[in-house]
Amino acid sequence: MARYTGASCRLCRRENLKMFLKGDRCYSDKCAFERRSFAPGQHGQNRFRKVSNYALQLREKQKVKQMYGMLEAQFHRFFKNADAGTGVTGEILLFMLERRFDNTLYRMGFASSRNQGRQMARHGLFTVNGKKVNIPSYQVKPGDVIALRPKNLKNAVIADNLEGAVRRGVPSWLELDQTKFQGTVKALPNREEITMPIQEQLIVELYSK
Ligand code: SF4
Repeated sequence: MARYTGASCRLCRRENLKMFLKGDRCYSDKCAFERRSFAPGQHGQNRFRKVSNYALQLREKQKVKQMYGMLEAQFHRFFKNADAGTGVTGEILLFMLERRFDNTLYRMGFASSRNQGRQMARHGLFTVNGKKVNIPSYQVKPGDVIALRPKNLKNAVIADNLEGAVRRGVPSWLELDQTKFQGTVKALPNREEITMPIQEQLIVELYSK
């Protein structure tokens, strides 16, 4: 699956939001958003433009898409699946995004960013319920046990990431057993714990035009 390979920090600056796309760097004073919290480009410091409703909807969609490291076609497919489900479409969409395997690796703390989670998933470093899974968009479900494969137990990057994650905390729908390098999906995600400022209704309005 293709993915965005440009400069991640530009995306945060464009959306005027720290999206934590680069792991540890995002928590350090090297964060580009902390240093230059205005949009990139020649007119980046001119933030006082009148913004149309359509532009607001579009930016919200772009923001969430970038947060989860997805391209348009795949994101739109997620939306269509969410729209076909029963419940509030915007919330279902967010839950589907949270349940992606790469995001779960990030949320559990094995990866320092979703991007790194995607790489780890692709390289097949983990099993789900004892079977190797290498599909970043795989949807985890309650009861799934995600474990580092035995041959990767000495991976120093993952051990470091877990230390950081334990300090930051793991959402209540997930459980991490740091000593066993494994985690369990305890429940479906809940809206309260998706703490990034997302107005999912704007995305629904955009795609419903
Ligand atoms: Fe965004 Fe992280 Fe770059 Fe800061 S360091 S601008 S949070 S990607």
